[in-house]
Amino acid sequence: MNFKVPRGTQDILPSESWKWQKVERIINETCDLYRYKEIRTPMFEATELFQRTVGETTDVVQKEMYTFTDRGNRSMTLRPEGTASVVRSFVENKMFGYPDQPIKLYYTGPMFRYERQQAGRYRQFVQFGVEAIGSADPAIDAEVIALAMDVYKRVGLTDLKLVLNSLGDNESRKAHRDALIAHFKSHIEGFCSDCKSRLERNPLRILDCKVDRDNPLIASAPSLADYLNEESASYFTEVKSYLDDAGIPYVVDANLVRGLDYYNHTAFEIMSTSDGFGAITTLCGGGRYNGLAEEIGGPSAPGIGFAMSIERLLLAMEAEGKAFSDESMLDVYIVTLGDEARKPGFKLLQELRVAGIRADMDYTGRKMKAQMKSADRLKAQNVILIGEDEITEGVVQLKNMAEGSQEKVSAAELVKKLQESLIG
Ligand code: ATP
Ligand code: MG
Repeated sequence: MNFKVPRGTQDILPSESWKWQKVERIINETCDLYRYKEIRTPMFEATELFQRTVGETTDVVQKEMYTFTDRGNRSMTLRPEGTASVVRSFVENKMFGYPDQPIKLYYTGPMFRYERQQAGRYRQFVQFGVEAIGSADPAIDAEVIALAMDVYKRVGLTDLKLVLNSLGDNESRKAHRDALIAHFKSHIEGFCSDCKSRLERNPLRILDCKVDRDNPLIASAPSLADYLNEESASYFTEVKSYLDDAGIPYVVDANLVRGLDYYNHTAFEIMSTSDGFGAITTLCGGGRYNGLAEEIGGPSAPGIGFAMSIERLLLAMEAEGKAFSDESMLDVYIVTLGDEARKPGFKLLQELRVAGIRADMDYTGRKMKAQMKSADRLKAQNVILIGEDEITEGVVQLKNMAEGSQEKVSAAELVKKLQESLIG
């Protein structure tokens, strides 16, 4: 038997996992600055939740979901995205009754979509997303966008483009929908079979079609911008002015429609403009979803959010040449000379760890030279040498690897001395 990691998934090995931890740390810190609190929801939900929220006619629901029947004969689905679960939890836990509205939440965790694997596209990927539910203030749209941009900035990315659009409210969308049907109807024979079925069900999706994207009728399609009613247009103007005030540059693209059905008003994507980036340049997508809580049986609770995958964030960092630099993995490596030094070495090792000093030693019985090599590879900042003489004297040899200096330190002073030098 020869087992492989399932197609579209990956093992994140220790040589990479520290980068993920670092990104997650930055995410947690940034969310804290904006007062977004973490929510953890299950990795599977009733299939119907995604059908109702993400939308029956979307690619995600029609082609990409991992759906199974459980032993109780219920149809369950591995979550393809996070917003549906968060809004379900918001409604179920009556968060609309909490005193401090809007409710500001974030999540980081795996999502599952049955997609064709390519660079930046996996079947299991990790999304970080935020949701602000309970406010229809255009300032919160700007806040959510600012938070996403801030996370990218804090990991070191600079080659970014924020693309913005308004999908309008229901009335505006209905007017636009009618115009789209009229526009495509007499030419629909020239489109793919998906688009044919989209025409009546959800013509906006035609604009987002990956097969027909170069059909000139898509470029000449009626623009949503011309169908926004007064309220929707002024909401969009407000969002833009808040972004201006926050010093966040953006471009408006009237053809930006998002892949999930629940969006209205503000829609946005953040792309990488780095040369090193492949065909897929969208790092983050989000928007407003004012009808979503009602759609699943809750009260009216307007919301806005975004999601970005950590996979694409790390790819963008590499494309920009901004990968995190390797960090020292160890404060101290203990090198022991001879069998009689092992027990005192191990005792000291535990003392160091208890004192909060990252330390390790050899467990494969190697000679001193090989132990020194390990210390080098692990980028240990200090090496402690213990041999017979040191044990008799009650001292150790402390070697500072960066400075190349070596000194004798009494075992009693060692912890204090190391703590001082590691802080400084
Ligand atoms: P795309 O157009 O690339 O398929 P999408 O519109 O399906 O993206 P969303 O559902 O909006 O993507 O998800 C938000 C973000 O999640 C994307 O911008 C991207 O960073 C990331 N993402 C989506 N699908 C995948 C995937 N299969 N693998 C890795 N990251 C993904
Ligand atoms: Mg997709």
